[in-house]
Amino acid sequence: MAKIFCIANQKGGVGKTTTTVNLAAGLAKVGQRVLMVDLDPQGNATMGSGVDKRKLELSVYDVLLESASVSEARVQSPKLAEAGCSYDILAANRELAGAEVEMVSLERREKRLKTALGAVDADYDFVLIDCPPSLSLLTLNGLCCAHGVIVPMQCEYFALEGLADLVNTIKQVHANLNKDLAIIGLLRVMFDPRITLQQQVSEQLKARFGDKVFNTVIPRNVRLAEAPSYGLPGVVFDLHSKGAQAFVAFAQEMVERVQKM
Ligand code: ADP
Ligand code: MG
Repeated sequence: MAKIFCIANQKGGVGKTTTTVNLAAGLAKVGQRVLMVDLDPQGNATMGSGVDKRKLELSVYDVLLESASVSEARVQSPKLAEAGCSYDILAANRELAGAEVEMVSLERREKRLKTALGAVDADYDFVLIDCPPSLSLLTLNGLCCAHGVIVPMQCEYFALEGLADLVNTIKQVHANLNKDLAIIGLLRVMFDPRITLQQQVSEQLKARFGDKVFNTVIPRNVRLAEAPSYGLPGVVFDLHSKGAQAFVAFAQEMVERVQKM
């Protein structure tokens, strides 16, 4: 049975997409079968996995509106396969923004993705869902099928601001829509140990959230930022960079955590 994780944080630019594609590639590298779902109309996770969002025949939009199944809509990227880090991709582009509006009047609108993923459950060990920077109906669709939520955070002064909203949303989804939604894990990203404030915030996170904070810390690393322009996750673009190595370690940590779930 696949373990499903949302990568969510209603702030933009905090590292959700970078986390999603690199964790997907890292998990593939350690032998896990992975489906990456792009739930953001910006389609960055799609492009960052080497799939051209302007040339999609089918996408997650068609899946949400039930005009295609996941098996019909998923694609692969030849570049990832070449590197031995292949994962399946349920891609997104601007069309997805329309789904939000079109779904409002439909039945079971927050469970559409859950229903669709049910049909491919046996094909994967992990499903990773890259959420948009909002607590919208799209994010709700992600949370309704997830077993856990990974929250990438920068260790800055305002890091905890907004976390309360996300935690409340997760609690409500757990109470009303998805009893399986169990864990939330905070992932420290874009970390620069030379900055004292970042060290302090990192310690505060540990003190307050304990083992809900992942052990792995993702450093700020320019190779991770360069990789998307080549249509590759950093883990594929430059496996030996510090950033890529951290994501491979995070993939291993996730495999261990899932065994305990
Ligand atoms: P989000 O999906 O939350 O909007 P992104 O993953 O797109 O955030 O990251 C925002 C920007 O920060 C991107 O330009 C990305 O390349 C860069 N970035 C993300 N993580 C790192 C990192 N660890 N080191 C350096 N740059 C990073
Ligand atoms: Mg993003």
